[in-house]
Amino acid sequence: MKLPIVEQRDWSADKHGMAYDNPQFWNAEHLESELHRVFEICNGCRLCFNLCPSFDVLFRRVDQLDPHREEAEGKHLEAGKIVEEHEAAELLKHVTVSTENPVGLLQDEDRERVVELCYECKLCYPKCPYVPPHEFAVDFPKLMLRAKMIGAKEDGLAFRERFLGATDLVGSVMTRIAPLANAAAHNSFNRLLMEKTLGIHRDRQLPNYAGETFLSWWDRRAPLRDNGGAEVALFATCFVNYNDPEIGKAAVDVLTRAGCSVECPEQVCCGMPKLDGGDLEGARKLARKNVESLLPAVRAGKKILSPGPSCTLVLRNELPELCPTPEGREVSAAVMDLSDFLLQQARARKLPKPPEGAVGKVAFHVACHNRVQNFGYRGRDLLKWAGGDVTLVDRCCGMDGTWGMKSEFFEESLKVAETAARKVEAAEPDTVSSDCPLACLQLRQKTTRPAYHPVRILSAAYQGEPLRSPRKP
Ligand code: SF4
Ligand code: SF4
Repeated sequence: MKLPIVEQRDWSADKHGMAYDNPQFWNAEHLESELHRVFEICNGCRLCFNLCPSFDVLFRRVDQLDPHREEAEGKHLEAGKIVEEHEAAELLKHVTVSTENPVGLLQDEDRERVVELCYECKLCYPKCPYVPPHEFAVDFPKLMLRAKMIGAKEDGLAFRERFLGATDLVGSVMTRIAPLANAAAHNSFNRLLMEKTLGIHRDRQLPNYAGETFLSWWDRRAPLRDNGGAEVALFATCFVNYNDPEIGKAAVDVLTRAGCSVECPEQVCCGMPKLDGGDLEGARKLARKNVESLLPAVRAGKKILSPGPSCTLVLRNELPELCPTPEGREVSAAVMDLSDFLLQQARARKLPKPPEGAVGKVAFHVACHNRVQNFGYRGRDLLKWAGGDVTLVDRCCGMDGTWGMKSEFFEESLKVAETAARKVEAAEPDTVSSDCPLACLQLRQKTTRPAYHPVRILSAAYQGEPLRSPRKP
């Protein structure tokens, strides 16, 4: 089925030019005034001061540029001297009250730094009291993305962004030469070369490629019989398909135990890596392909289950704008997080409990991209239901798609992950878990402990082969 490209719309209500199809979206001058407007609001609010390097840099820089900062902080007063009430009025006479807004003193390079340090975790959005429909209509993550997209349009897409965004192409080549590709990724000379040519930091631990993709495994396995339970379609995600098919196999195993009939329709990348790199058109092409191939399953009443938080977020939140058609909205509305669905099955008593003690003590990291979808901590609850003694690790891991792989952000990414890693260790877990495969990668790099998707822990528990995360020497 071929879908129309976009719907005609009246953009007058989108006065800040934040919708992709609004012609103002691509206007660089409009973007600049929008950055100024939002930075002023944020400077007055500062609720996000400790969320990420982006806000940290913004507020520090504004403070540095404020000519009256020291006076406002009382630094002109004698250190340690207690000011009596009768002296305060006299001292205040010498304080200059300024209405000048230091946000206006920010330079282009300051704005660029704030933009590039945003890794699109989206945590500031649910925290912000000024998101639409508030009249201020602050959407900080989307504004940062808009700035990246306009930059990519003006300067052209960098080779690294093309490479990181081509997950299906790179994945299908690498899985064919998996032993060679994996050996090369562990060779220090190759890593140096990769850093110079692709800008991927030499010390970033990369995921291995699988010898057989999940979708090839799916094609050659015996068809599942109709179990009389829910009918679902699995959106495997690129990571599961090319890097860790075991997550997909575990999902099929657990869904089958819940009596579900599973299908895997044709699918391509959700488009997140392309969006991250500023390639809107590339992301839209993928969105349209996915809508076309997932629509029959949705029309047959099936939920589309995704095990990857970032991919689920794109399909649920971005798809209606990437593919702004009734079909796009229809597919988007049918997408569900895999752990969320399994927990529903468990609570409806359709899923048997695994043997007692098989799950053990788990440090469960909640992925930012699940947190912002507001459906609760489903992976944690699923492991708890399965008998796990679960500690929640609710701090950002700082990996955020491909951001933490890039040479210039690698150190910053590890710094962001410090608190999460400390919380994992403090829990003294048998097993580390996160729904996000890239968070698992980051936690492994920081703690040397392997980390697993909850569905893998559950499937292994059923099979009597518990997954554990010992520290690596
Ligand atoms: S989306 Fe995340 S990284 Fe970007 S500004 Fe918001 S909190 Fe910071
Ligand atoms: S994004 Fe919203 S909550 Fe965060 S600092 Fe800006 S205005 Fe405040």
